[in-house]
Amino acid sequence: MEKDEVKIAWFGKHQGEEPPLVGMNAGAGGIFFSQCHLRCVFCQNYQISQENLGEEYTIEELAKIMLDLEKDGAVNIDLVTPTIWWKQIKEAILLAKKSGLTLPIVWNSNGYESIKILKEMEGLVDIYLPDFKYGDDEVGFKYSGIKKYSAVALQAIKEMLRQVGYFKTDQNGIGKRGVIVRHLIIPNNIDNSLRALQILTDLDNNLHISLMNQFNPLYKAKQFPEVNRILSAEEFNLVYKHLLDLGFYRGWIQDPESAKFLVPDFTKKDPFNL
Ligand code: SF4
Repeated sequence: MEKDEVKIAWFGKHQGEEPPLVGMNAGAGGIFFSQCHLRCVFCQNYQISQENLGEEYTIEELAKIMLDLEKDGAVNIDLVTPTIWWKQIKEAILLAKKSGLTLPIVWNSNGYESIKILKEMEGLVDIYLPDFKYGDDEVGFKYSGIKKYSAVALQAIKEMLRQVGYFKTDQNGIGKRGVIVRHLIIPNNIDNSLRALQILTDLDNNLHISLMNQFNPLYKAKQFPEVNRILSAEEFNLVYKHLLDLGFYRGWIQDPESAKFLVPDFTKKDPFNL
């Protein structure tokens, strides 16, 4: 693997993001990068994040992928798990913009980011779409093998807000700029979710929150019996009620059925067309 290359598992238009990021079914311009600096035991993208499925592309090829997605009618460039490739991605965005790329750039990440990298991306990323996975750092260490997740991710989200502000759409409801924070509820870990939302409300409850109930016991989840199932409706309702009680009123919740159909298979040519 050369320094001026990235590893990509799949790219193309896809529907698996929040409504303003897929624009009335036009599709997000997804680019799914291989590898991830977290090790989530329940990762639904484990084929690419942990098993490193994917192929190498040069910076020039990545810029062309972005331009082709724009030509193909995507409403944004949705960089999925981009963090470890930030240097090459930065070069590719600059190159694509020089060649006429106008789509908003979405930084779709796990939230565990360094401020240094975020500052490097300032002015190039339009929409930050971070996770805020853990309010309880012990839970973060247990399931993702990382320390101090909540403090690191909180500082990252603050920096993202400073750069692009609250989430905004154009007159057609298509996302143009701002921050959306995602939180995935983990079965039998409701206190972790309640704490995560409390931390976020202490930051700013005008944030757009995407509350996700797509938890699927994939990858190594069976080694952790307490998370080896999908989320119950009771668990979801408890967290959702807490979200509303805390005054969050902007954002989205997922269809409870989504756990069944949002799991991609990256061994297939079209991972989302199962
Ligand atoms: S952060 Fe996301 S992509 Fe990375 S291992 Fe965890 S669930 Fe998978």
